[in-house]
Amino acid sequence: MTQHYDLIAIGGGSGGLSAAERAAEYGMKTAVVENNKLGGTCVNVGCVPKKVMWFASGIAETIKAASGYGFDVQLNNFDWGKLVTARTDYIQGILDWYGNYLTDSNIDHIQGTARFVDARTLEVNGKRFTADHIVIAPGGYPIVPEVEGKEFLMTSDDFFALSEQPKRVAVVGAGYIAVELAGLLNGLGSEVSMLLRKDHFLGSFDSMLRETLMEEMLNAGVNIMPRVTVERIEKQTDGTLTIHCASGITLEGYDALVCAIGRAPNTAQLDLNAAGVDHDDQGYIPTDEFQNTNVDGIYAVGDVTGRAQLTPVAIAAARRLSDRLFNNMPERRLEYENVPTVMFSHPPIGTVGLTEEEARKIHGDAVKVYQTRFTAMYHSVAAEEQCTAMKLVCIGADEKVVGVHIIGMGADEMLQGFAVAVKMGATKKQFDDTVAIHPTSSEELVTMR
Ligand code: FAD
Ligand code: NDP
Repeated sequence: MTQHYDLIAIGGGSGGLSAAERAAEYGMKTAVVENNKLGGTCVNVGCVPKKVMWFASGIAETIKAASGYGFDVQLNNFDWGKLVTARTDYIQGILDWYGNYLTDSNIDHIQGTARFVDARTLEVNGKRFTADHIVIAPGGYPIVPEVEGKEFLMTSDDFFALSEQPKRVAVVGAGYIAVELAGLLNGLGSEVSMLLRKDHFLGSFDSMLRETLMEEMLNAGVNIMPRVTVERIEKQTDGTLTIHCASGITLEGYDALVCAIGRAPNTAQLDLNAAGVDHDDQGYIPTDEFQNTNVDGIYAVGDVTGRAQLTPVAIAAARRLSDRLFNNMPERRLEYENVPTVMFSHPPIGTVGLTEEEARKIHGDAVKVYQTRFTAMYHSVAAEEQCTAMKLVCIGADEKVVGVHIIGMGADEMLQGFAVAVKMGATKKQFDDTVAIHPTSSEELVTMR
């Protein structure tokens, strides 16, 4: 017999779990279909394992900096395997918790791959399930370029499966993942080359952020190679990789080549056509501002919509959707403007709102920018120097703050509160009227002239 639900979420990642969880809180009969591990990308091969590695890399930085504070310590050995075991144990704890949580919350966990039979019916492992509301949240997968020898490339998923530290690594890509993985590998002692097809990485970020980060990564020893396009990868008999690039450059002797050039949506197995759900050429599912697809009763949230591919965005869109559907909140939706985001680079970046370049395009001469660059107290004393830089992008006579951009130690934790201020429409004067906290780096954000 076909089992019927109020809501079924396809995908047990950030978006799908959140939609089901909120619907269940309102007493709805819900299920989550997942064909891999609960928690999805974020928990298993994304934010969580990445952040553990970033912390480890930060500890290596601290050890190097310690002599400036009088400590006679040196980094003798780093056990990659031990770190990976600790990381895996931590994630297993989260997965165990999910299992119990779904049971306690009366959410059915259907293990398998969902595909549409029609707009109200899904098939999983030959069994059929119907629902009044179906939330599509299957996330995405890493794109692999069509180059000869692509089987020797490693994606971010493969990176998290590494049981040994690669000593010499090339990283291809110019976005979040390439920058984060290059930074943490360098911090942990690998020799890292970043191969960029353009002059810069992080093309959509404020130029101050990407230029400062590039200086810092170069200072930290990352070999950043602009205008290099990989054409062919060859594996030698000693196991090392030779990378043949356009313009005749050949790079030899790499243990690993990590490729992070973007992600594509996981929609191929869904048979969206059976339900009549529209998708673009890449498989992304367009939605309106309320996460509705073109088919009544079918919604999409998270990475599959192609908008702001971040865990809190998937969660927020999903929770608001269930609020709207099951708690009589017809206008409840996620606003995609002013989404704060952090790059877990070395040093980290925190950014929200318009970049200076975007603001000038939209608001022209009405833009006023405040910026500062300094060595934070920690780094003034530490053996390792590092720069902190901040920028406020303001518009109009009242200098409404429409962009906050920070790079430097602590930027990751600094941003959240300032994102609230930007969301509330705070002005530069209101920033300045806020009493500073001393001695911190963030006090600069309320004292900039
Ligand atoms: P996912 O979390 O990908 O969940 C989708 C789930 O659906 C998967 O578990 C998949 O197995 C399942 N699935 C797919 N198709 C089917 C099907 N047909 N049937 C059943 N199940 C199916 N974001 C941040 O905010 N901060 C970070 O620091 C951060 N770091 C990241 C680091 C890396 C290396 C990566 C790759 C991503 C990172 N992200 C980060 C992005 C974040 O992980 C995603 O935005 C988020 O996981 C998207 O959630 P989702 O629910 O859309 O998809
Ligand atoms: P991104 O979309 O961030 O960046 C990929 C970049 O790689 C492109 O912008 C492009 O930059 C470059 N690129 C594309 N194709 C090629 C190619 N063929 N050869 C060389 N370079 C190429 O993708 P990621 O894979 O880094 O990350 C996916 C998403 O995951 C992110 O957008 C983000 O939303 C999320 N994420 C979030 C994190 C966080 O919140 N801290 C961390 C990690 C991921 P260019 O055009 O300049 O060459």
